[in-house]
Amino acid sequence: MRVTVNDGCQGCGVCEATAPEVFEIQDDGSVKVLVQVVPLELEQAVRNAAHECPTEAIEISE
Ligand code: SF4
Repeated sequence: MRVTVNDGCQGCGVCEATAPEVFEIQDDGSVKVLVQVVPLELEQAVRNAAHECPTEAIEISE
């Protein structure tokens, strides 16, 4: 699984709270994706973050 964050992100922090190993809020309010390919054990957390993101800014590709 690969994951990216698009321009719809509003920096709310839900993704970082859900999967801190994958998402990191930057000082400017943007989100940095910390991994190129999501490890299997973190895939569910990333799916949860994508589901909970209020602006649907998290894009997953398998
Ligand atoms: S949950 Fe969505 S809107 Fe909130 S910081 Fe993460 S990507 Fe951005």
